Amino acid sequence: VCPTGALTEVDHSYEVLQALSNPKKTVVVQTAPAVRAALGEEFGMEPGTLVTGKLVAALRRLGFDYVFDTDFGADLTIMEEGTELLNRIKGYLAGDPNVRIPLLTSCCPGWVNFFEHNFPDLLDVPSTAKSPQQMFGAIAKTYFAEKIGVKREDLVVVSIMPCLAKKYECQRDEFKVDGNPDVDYSISTRELAAFIRQANIDFPGLPDEEYDDPLGESSGAGVIFGNTGGVIEAACRTAYELYTGRSLDRVEFHELRGMAGIRSATVDFDGLKLNIGIAHGLGNARKLLDEVRAGRSQYHAIEIMACPGGCISGGGQPYTHLKEEILKRRTAALYMADERKRIRKSHENPSIIRLYKEFLGEPGSPRAHSLLHTEYFPKSNEITITLNNH
Ligand code: SF4
Repeated sequence: VCPTGALTEVDHSYEVLQALSNPKKTVVVQTAPAVRAALGEEFGMEPGTLVTGKLVAALRRLGFDYVFDTDFGADLTIMEEGTELLNRIKGYLAGDPNVRIPLLTSCCPGWVNFFEHNFPDLLDVPSTAKSPQQMFGAIAKTYFAEKIGVKREDLVVVSIMPCLAKKYECQRDEFKVDGNPDVDYSISTRELAAFIRQANIDFPGLPDEEYDDPLGESSGAGVIFGNTGGVIEAACRTAYELYTGRSLDRVEFHELRGMAGIRSATVDFDGLKLNIGIAHGLGNARKLLDEVRAGRSQYHAIEIMACPGGCISGGGQPYTHLKEEILKRRTAALYMADERKRIRKSHENPSIIRLYKEFLGEPGSPRAHSLLHTEYFPKSNEITITLNNH
């Protein structure tokens, strides 16, 4: 069961097939971090097998024109959210009464949906940074579309997600331009597996292939977004170096890792001690939010993910996700993917550096703000039941 409130699974596979068979459309696909750690299970491979290269190869054989990585969007999220975190903390330490802390991460739409319904009085606390899926879509339909000379309406962006709430996220009005969504369709890991089977692709036998440039280049910080604690660890890698001006001796923040439902750690930024909270599962999230509402929170920043363990156990993943051992193997696979990366910090991703230089300017610039940030709205918990009067 999806824990995020996405009660029904809307399948857009048919619409994706139509786009792929339409010669007037250029179809771009992005793949979320957690998909690569679980898709192999659908084809009899051991849990925790990283299938990144085969995933790329399968998507090319299915006919996608460009195969890109949501990890690029994750790196971009860190640039914007990390900058916001530092600005908020500097303002808070300077005594600015308008600055709210803790900063809450905002990349999980299940969690966003939860706080809009249950904590409408705290809508100014979460980061305004869009999720990696939506940042990717916004950049694909502007920067990338311009680069390849394709009109927005002729570019179709598809995402492969471990998540059912992402289907709802990409349909939110604030992520559309004149009715045209930044991400047109989101399909789950399981739906992609069905696609691959229907196309008679021998998935385990595929060669490993590389993502396309430029939205396929990513850092190790981007890939750990799929694990609980990964978003805030990625943010710390960048925020530490931007704040101190020094390189980290080691990029791993092991104190932020683990599977306890609520965790806390203090990270030392050369004398500035940041209290970090982490919760996964909405019951745990509620506990930390109740503290914020009561003015008792001890944290400067909190990462919240709706699913237990983070996106590796999302509602769109292979159904084996309920077994703890499988979750541990998927988690380990993403940390291994990070270790294998040449670049492990978001701000060192060359394609991200180029994107700011050519198009966005600085993190938090007016253009970055209009494309990469969002707002939240209070939602009602009331359920309307319509009765037929016969
Ligand atoms: Fe989706 Fe990940 Fe949030 Fe679960 S934790 S609802 S998979 S974004």
